[in-house]
Amino acid sequence: MPLRLRPRRSAPKRRVETRALSVEGLEAPLELRINPRATRLSLKIDPAHGGARVVVPPGVAEKHVRDFVLRHMGWLAPRLTAIPVRRPFEDGAAVPFRGQPHLIRHEPGRRIAVRPEDGALCVGGEAAHLPRRVTDFLKREAKRELTARSHAMAARLPVTIRAVTVRDTRSRWGSCSADGRLSYCWRLIMAPDWVIDYVVAHEVAHRIEMNHGPRFWALVESLDPNVAAARAWLKEEGGRLHLYG
Ligand SMILES: [Zn+2]
Repeated sequence: MPLRLRPRRSAPKRRVETRALSVEGLEAPLELRINPRATRLSLKIDPAHGGARVVVPPGVAEKHVRDFVLRHMGWLAPRLTAIPVRRPFEDGAAVPFRGQPHLIRHEPGRRIAVRPEDGALCVGGEAAHLPRRVTDFLKREAKRELTARSHAMAARLPVTIRAVTVRDTRSRWGSCSADGRLSYCWRLIMAPDWVIDYVVAHEVAHRIEMNHGPRFWALVESLDPNVAAARAWLKEEGGRLHLYG
């Protein structure tokens, strides 16, 4: 049996404690974090959760914390509305598919992965697999659609396409290598077909003009009638596509 030389003292709690806090008039989630190392109350925006976090030293009354948050609403409110809202793939959520909003409908009893039906994306299997299944479905559809459209567009010039791949690229919607490999962002499958066609025309035109000069743009215009509208759509709406999933 171990000998205890000194009487055991109850060690001070060094653990960070986190819990939800509701404050009247605040719609966004607010997290109360009790941090033993904190020396004063502080408020932070938490973009990943679409809310805010208030960090407090131990022993501060909740009422005091609420008052603190209320006093800083003028600082908090505009920062909260500026956070882009993420759109996770879950039952009942709407996701655009080829430009049309589709409701995700979880149907655990059905032996399907994902099937588009009457403006919905029906998803079978366990709920835990739903987000991955929806993502896989969209990637697969993107690959199929972008491959078919790239080859059809290339045949009109004519040029050859060596391969088509899809990725989750943030900085650009498509790219074309010197040896004819096209790569697209799979999120394009959420955009309307006429926007997809512009991106395809753009990349296929690079098979002839590896630049963005006047001859390149004339070539893109000859392949696609909606260049200006599609570029405007991507500028206005494109960023939104990255919030899904
Ligand atoms: Zn380009």
